[in-house]
Amino acid sequence: MTAEFLDWPVPRSPLAEVEYSQQATRFSVWSPKAEQVKVNLYRRGEGGVPFESYPMHLQVDGTWTVAVSGNLNGVFYTFQVQTAGKWKSETPGIFAKAVGVNGKRAQVLDLKETNPEGWDRDARPVLRSFSDVVLYEMHYRDFSMDQESGISHKGKFLALAEQGTKNAEGLATGLEHLKELGVNHVCLLPSYDYGSVDEARLQMPQYNWGYDPVNYNVPEGSYSTNPEDPAVRIKEFKQMVMALHQAGMRVVMDVVYNHVLDAGTSAFELTAPGYFFRKHADGTYANGSGCGNETASERPMMRKFILESVLYWIKEYHVDGFRFDLMGIHDVETMNAIRKAVDQLDPSIFLYGEGWAANKPAFPLELLAMKGRMAQMPGIAAFGDEMRDALRGAWNNNKKGAFLTGVSGHEKNVKFGLMGAIQGWAATPTQMISYVSCHDDMCIADRIKATTQRASKEERIRLQKLALTAVLVSQGVPLIWCGDELLRDKKGVHNSYNSPDSVNAIAWKLKTEHMDLFHYIRELISLRKHHVAFHMGKAELVKKHMEFLPVKTKNVVAFLLHGQAVGDTWNEIIVVLNSCKQTVKVRVPQGTYTIAIKGGELKESGLGVFKGHLLAIPPQSAMMIYR
Ligand code: CA
Repeated sequence: MTAEFLDWPVPRSPLAEVEYSQQATRFSVWSPKAEQVKVNLYRRGEGGVPFESYPMHLQVDGTWTVAVSGNLNGVFYTFQVQTAGKWKSETPGIFAKAVGVNGKRAQVLDLKETNPEGWDRDARPVLRSFSDVVLYEMHYRDFSMDQESGISHKGKFLALAEQGTKNAEGLATGLEHLKELGVNHVCLLPSYDYGSVDEARLQMPQYNWGYDPVNYNVPEGSYSTNPEDPAVRIKEFKQMVMALHQAGMRVVMDVVYNHVLDAGTSAFELTAPGYFFRKHADGTYANGSGCGNETASERPMMRKFILESVLYWIKEYHVDGFRFDLMGIHDVETMNAIRKAVDQLDPSIFLYGEGWAANKPAFPLELLAMKGRMAQMPGIAAFGDEMRDALRGAWNNNKKGAFLTGVSGHEKNVKFGLMGAIQGWAATPTQMISYVSCHDDMCIADRIKATTQRASKEERIRLQKLALTAVLVSQGVPLIWCGDELLRDKKGVHNSYNSPDSVNAIAWKLKTEHMDLFHYIRELISLRKHHVAFHMGKAELVKKHMEFLPVKTKNVVAFLLHGQAVGDTWNEIIVVLNSCKQTVKVRVPQGTYTIAIKGGELKESGLGVFKGHLLAIPPQSAMMIYR
């Protein structure tokens, strides 16, 4: 810890800026160095002047408090802090739990009122092991805005709570589609209150991924049916969680504690100036996030904030997992503290993150939660970019292809990813997220298009199937970007963070057009779930029971899984990934096998029989046989 912050006391009790009862409300805000602090009370979430302001009183733990008598349920408030003789701008505080439009003012709210009917019976779907996790990353608008989505609450939390939605041809969309696909974790792009969409102008088309946090502990207003009423977004988020749970899916929050929309006007800086952000020696904000600032997770109050925020989403909203954006900006100690605290609530809650930063953070590298230090963070996973890049090409050059498009030399990193990174940075294969595309960069269909010369659609679909086969037969934890199972594209845009719906929304007619691809991915997920050999969960099991078969041809990777040894009903499983434009032959142990995957077709119970020792794999496809 930086010595200069040793004299900032840290409260032992949980961060509770508002403690409500019908008789009185106690306000509290942490600001050890302030000269004066007050709380302003308003009737409305925006506009007007305070009907009352109360001076607050400094306590020994650095918080300022005041108790206001009467029933304040529904009253809006802001805090204001004075330093160096000047009053800073008003802020809803760092831990607002309910806010008005655009998150400018917080609200005193009896949260019990926001619980939808049946909330007390809401239960987390069972998860046996992290090795069973299948992630589906999605954005609310991508998933529902299309005119043919059949979804009424387009672009809203409630889009994911609608039952029985269909596209024009009667095929399942939305929640029903997810059930059909068989994923068990839905990872929602930022769902907390962020700043880049104006909640007061929702009649105008606006789109953003939302990696610009404002209020970390409140759902985003633009995804609610009424951002002006603080209770609505809270209730609707809960309704969504409950619907996903009932459909057998867990909910993962994408959390961006590493930076805020704007440091200077953030609640952190307006309450405790100088504390929450790392700075360079010259006093400027460090910028490991590439977004203008980086938070200081190593400082006790920032660590406490992240920890309590995570626990709050679990307890209040029944969230089941977290994706830490730019986790490499956080320190290892903080990440381990989170794992430990979460374990006390439920050790099946899945935690993963990006084991990197955008720029070099202003903190000793050896203490940061980078991918290379995953072994020091058991129970936390990181994105495996090695296999991603080996399959589709490096992130920094969209035009460059790799294994999929027949560029040789990437076989090694494909194998690295198939094993779950255990030959490198992962202590267990469940520490690696296996993926070929996510919201960042081009989606896989665009990337394949950009890296193949005049390839036919049939050829591109073949490669898409091959790519997703690699992801779903990896010992890592697979992640699918929404719509990749339908050949969704983003019109070639790679950083589509604020592109219009016309770029980002999934056209649901794609499901009708590419039913064959959807069917293949769905069956692949199902096959993975049925066969533990594809997700052994432990490094020593993978090392012992997964072997790569010698292959001379470039752009071909073949492996054999000893299924029975890990309790699978299939004894020997052979998988070959062939990205060559011609049929290749691979030597396998002599025997009689059932064919599960061949030439882009998949049938778990068998497409036919293979006898012999020389297996012929059709061009640009995966093949799987078992006995
Ligand atoms: Ca917002």
